[in-house]
Amino acid sequence: MFFQDVPQGPPDPVYILKNAVDADKCPEKVDLGVGVYRNERAQYNELGAIKEAKKILTQKELGHDYEVTTGDAEFVRNAAAVLFGKNNKAIKSSRITSVQAISGTGSIHLAALFLSRCASFKGKQVYIGTPAWGNYEPLFNLVGLKVVKYKYYDAAKGVVDFKSVLDAVSQAPEGSMFVLQGCCHNPSGADLKPEQWRELANVMRPRKLFPFFDMAYQGLGAGLEEDAYGLRYFEEQGFEFLACQSFSKNFGLYGERCGVLHVVSEGEKVPANVYDQLRCLIRWEFSSSPAYGARLVNTILGNEELSTKWTNELITMRQRLISLRRALYSELVEKRKTPGNWSTILSSTGLFCFLPLDPRQVSTLATQHHIYMLQSSRINVSGMNQSNIERIASSIDEVVRSS
Ligand code: PLP
Repeated sequence: MFFQDVPQGPPDPVYILKNAVDADKCPEKVDLGVGVYRNERAQYNELGAIKEAKKILTQKELGHDYEVTTGDAEFVRNAAAVLFGKNNKAIKSSRITSVQAISGTGSIHLAALFLSRCASFKGKQVYIGTPAWGNYEPLFNLVGLKVVKYKYYDAAKGVVDFKSVLDAVSQAPEGSMFVLQGCCHNPSGADLKPEQWRELANVMRPRKLFPFFDMAYQGLGAGLEEDAYGLRYFEEQGFEFLACQSFSKNFGLYGERCGVLHVVSEGEKVPANVYDQLRCLIRWEFSSSPAYGARLVNTILGNEELSTKWTNELITMRQRLISLRRALYSELVEKRKTPGNWSTILSSTGLFCFLPLDPRQVSTLATQHHIYMLQSSRINVSGMNQSNIERIASSIDEVVRSS
């Protein structure tokens, strides 16, 4: 008996919720939980550009050879152009080192592992604004990095608590790492405004703090270019930083595990050495990344017509999220005058927002109305659609009034 002492792992609220939704056989159940973009039929949404890219790849019969350790060079270049902008000078000057990784989560893990082995970050801590994506803390702890939490979100006002963010960057010791979600903050949907990104950079630079960008939702907030504002501003200001890019949400490639880690560094030989270390870490940990998702993305980004189709589809997704937010707000506030402050529905961006519901109300919605969201009251806006939104609003109204 070798494994008697293996303890249970901590529960994952997202998957507990998913199991509860799957177990509920009510035909009218509503899943506002897991962070996947759903279409009007409440189903996974395969993009038309992906469908076409699949046909092109089928014809090419590329087979299933290993991908090179650091990923397909053209794919990572195209991915960098999405994040940093097509004509970004840093890409051309090779200040940016990009390697393929196993989607956003795998990029964050690789980045954390890399930082944990860099001499400059020895004894340094990772600052995470709360509420946060639940996977950050375990991902950093896994490689021995300690996490410090500070308040990111002002729940009463439904906006970023910018004073608290500034306090955190003003007080953190030199060399601390700050995880910054570039757009569509998970779970709050509350993002920094351009002037706040600029102010943040101004405070972080003299204090020699290290930005760790997480870009999991580019294109679903204010637009592909707009969503990258903060990251691009930090790059223009000459920061060294890293960015974890996921194509799960904006290409609908969740299961293909497709993403890129970009490291922006300074110094003559530095980018080459960074690249070499990443190559080693990838080789030692997982050898190379999955090829198929990257081939799909590359087929789209390398083809003007398909690229336009993709960006138009992203616009449609984004506009649908906005109109669902308006519809829910109107159902609750204008039609039903539901008690409470529902302004976060309109003020947040992307896939998520918090509703002003307590855990007991969230449970009642699940058990009595078959409407599921995270205990924190975070909803996935795309889980709503024209056929369920009225029922969602009337159930919320009923639960709020009866508690
Ligand atoms: N970062 C944030 C904030 C997320 O919400 C997610 C996924 O939900 C990820 C990163 C990683 O996503 P994936 O590993 O699917 O690319």
